[in-house]
Parts: sequence; structure tokens; C-alpha cells
Amino acid sequence: MLQSYACDPLHSRGRRYPQAPAPTRNEFQRDRDRIVHCTAFRRLVYKTQVFLNHEGDLFRTRLTHSLEVAQLARSVARELGLHEDLVEAIALAHDLGHTPFGHAGQDALNDCLRAAHPQSGFEHNLQSLRVVDWLEERYPAYDGLNLSFEAREGILKHCSRRNAERLLRQEPGGVGLRFVDGTQPSLEAQLCNLADEIAYNAHDIDDGVRSGLLTLEQLDGVALFASARDESLAEFQGLGGRRLLFESIRRMLSRQVEDLIAATRTAIEHAAPESASAARAMPPLVQFGAPMQVHNTELKAFLRQNLYRHPQVIETTDRARRVVADLYAAYGADPSALPKAAAAHVRPHRAIADYIAGMTDRFALREHQRLTGETLFP
Ligand code: MG
Repeated sequence: MLQSYACDPLHSRGRRYPQAPAPTRNEFQRDRDRIVHCTAFRRLVYKTQVFLNHEGDLFRTRLTHSLEVAQLARSVARELGLHEDLVEAIALAHDLGHTPFGHAGQDALNDCLRAAHPQSGFEHNLQSLRVVDWLEERYPAYDGLNLSFEAREGILKHCSRRNAERLLRQEPGGVGLRFVDGTQPSLEAQLCNLADEIAYNAHDIDDGVRSGLLTLEQLDGVALFASARDESLAEFQGLGGRRLLFESIRRMLSRQVEDLIAATRTAIEHAAPESASAARAMPPLVQFGAPMQVHNTELKAFLRQNLYRHPQVIETTDRARRVVADLYAAYGADPSALPKAAAAHVRPHRAIADYIAGMTDRFALREHQRLTGETLFP
């Protein structure tokens, strides 16, 4: 049951290139389908989430992460009466702009661009929007996927004021506006942001333990995990190993999702937005309750300290940064090494960044080897 504060495809703010409605699908289903069929989406399977893609077959990739975000966000949307298809579209597209090698790749590319052009830079949220607005080449009449305003609004999760002003010059009143006037995105977009956090906090614990970089003993220090584990052991005495880990993560996830639904429901009842637009003008309504917010912050701090900054992760991300920096330098020195269209681009530094950002981990490694003769990841 769609609530009055949900985004309604019949009242969408429309597409950049107006199109007749599809005969059998609503506008947000159409967005989702376009995303699933695009090239950038298929590349997510070979892009790093935390562990480099070639480090193991069972770790999350950007693709499986995006699927987990989508399913989590959809179940919350159904409970809250938000639009499930829109939530799914945003979740599946939210990481399309990620470079190979995760955040290490993004940081390296950002540094390269800034060194070349101080006014420039690389930011994956803005790149996700670039992918769906410009970089996908699938339709005869326009560049990009021509998604609805609501999907694009959700994809642009963060944006600097300078970039927002630039977007507004291209598209007055468009998706850049909220970063200038301080309003919120739709409740569907707010939900996807939190579903992203819930998903990666949970799956990074799983992957962290699987990789041997995190231990169950270390996780004793994380209150939310420890209580979920105690609860699992109380119900299943003698449970250990993987099944204990999975059961604890499952309970931790459920608790966060249930808390999110309850706290958001209360906030919505209290604020009583009469429409999706009214909700955008209010403070964020999709939220955890205060105690869960504390747990969530603790969990994130734990993962940052013990997993993302683990010496072994830092060591591989350092090499990954070098791959990206070397590629940028090599294409800059010899544009003929780029595909023809990129080599002819009027803004070569942006074309190089787009090309590198679109690469999968393994393609970037092959290109690096081809251009430098070095093997950084034997
Ligand atoms: Mg994500």
C-alpha cells in the first residue's frame, strides 16, 4: 500500500528527455530495468567492495553488495508504504560510479585529477550520476539511461556545493538543488542510504571474519554483535564456527531493520508529511532510534579501525592506488593508448577519469601490465 508521502510514478518529475509511458511498467520499474540492462551494472561483478576481486570468490563484490542493499531496502519500503520499485532502482544504481579497487581507487583518481586541475576531482556519487546521465551509450536519441528525476535524485547521495552549482547550471531546479537549498531527498532515497550502511556493516563483518582479518573475540567489543551472539548461544547451545557467525549477523541485521522501521514510522507519524514533496522539506525522517544510532556508530568505528585500516588491507590498497595513478599517468602521456572516442574528448583529463572509473579490477590490472610492463598483483 503506497502511502501519501511515497514517490508516485504517476506524479514523477519526469525525465530529461520526455518519453511516452511504457504500456506495462510504471516509470520506476522502467528505471530499474534500464539499470539492470546497462553495461556499468554488469561490471559491478568484477569491482571491489572491500576485498580485491581476485582475493577470493566468496567475498562481496559491488554487485552482490548492491543486491543486498536492494533486497534490504525493498523489505523496509514495503513495511513503510514507500515505492519498492524506486527503492530497488536507486539501490541497484547507487554504486555504478565506483572505480576499480573500491575507495583506494577513488582516492587515487581524485588525487590525479586534482593534481592536474585543482578545480577538478573525482567523487563516486557524482560519477554514478554521470554514468546514468551521460556515459551509458544505449539509446539512439540520447546519451545515458534517461532515468526519472526520483531515481537520479537518489543516486546523487552526496555532492559538494561547487559541483551542485555546476549541475544546477546544466539543469536548473534539478538534482543539484537540494545541496544548495538544504532540503532532503525523497524518503525512498533516504532509505537507500541507510540500507547501504546496514548492508555493508553486516557483510563486512562476515567477509572480515572469513578472510581471517577479524576474529569473533574482537567482535566481543561491539555491543550490538556481542548481544546478538549471546542470544544465538542462549537459543542454540554449543553453536560455533560459521553458523554462529551467520546467526549472530542475521540477528544483528534484523534488529537494525526492525529498529529502522519502528523509528521511521514514529518520525513519519509525528511529522505527518502529506506528500513526497512535503517530506523533502522536513528534516530526515528515515532514521534509527537514538540507542541504535549509537550502536551503528560503534559498529562503523570498529570496522574502520580493525578491517578497513588493517595492515593487510592497507598494503593491498596501496598497490591498488598505484595501479590507478600509473594508468592515469600513462594515458595522459600517450592518449593514443585510450579508446578512440576517449582520446578525442574535449576534456582529456575527464575522459581518462571516466575510462579508468569504468574499469573492472581485472581489466585495470591487465591494462596496467600492458602499459607499464609491471605486475603489481602477481
Ligand atoms: Mg554501497
